[in-house]
Amino acid sequence: MAEPNNNKRDSTDGQSGGTNTAGAVRCDLHICPTCGSDFVFPTDWEPSGSAHWRVSLRCPECEWIGEGVYAQDQLDEYDRILDLGTESLIDDLKVLTRSNMENEISAFARALEVNLIIPDDFVG
Ligand SMILES: [Zn+2]
Repeated sequence: MAEPNNNKRDSTDGQSGGTNTAGAVRCDLHICPTCGSDFVFPTDWEPSGSAHWRVSLRCPECEWIGEGVYAQDQLDEYDRILDLGTESLIDDLKVLTRSNMENEISAFARALEVNLIIPDDFVG
């Protein structure tokens, strides 16, 4: 039962922490720390504090599972990257489907042209 480092919200008592990365939002939630795949996707999330989310992540390539607390900014960026990934995936699929259909249609048209397909073909 190893509890992950639980970064509770730091008390802002005027003391500025050394590592403030405001401005440069770095998002590598989609990159698997184990195999480097960039298909890591969120499986679960819940609010953690006012501006943070506890996110469970999973890599479909190597079955890596992780969890972390991320700022809203990071997740906005992650969301954008996921959207891009999904769109490119769908684009690939569309191109693939279209070229498959074109192949089939042209093969069918060619078969019709040379009368390879006759009504008998459709009778058991
Ligand atoms: Zn992985």
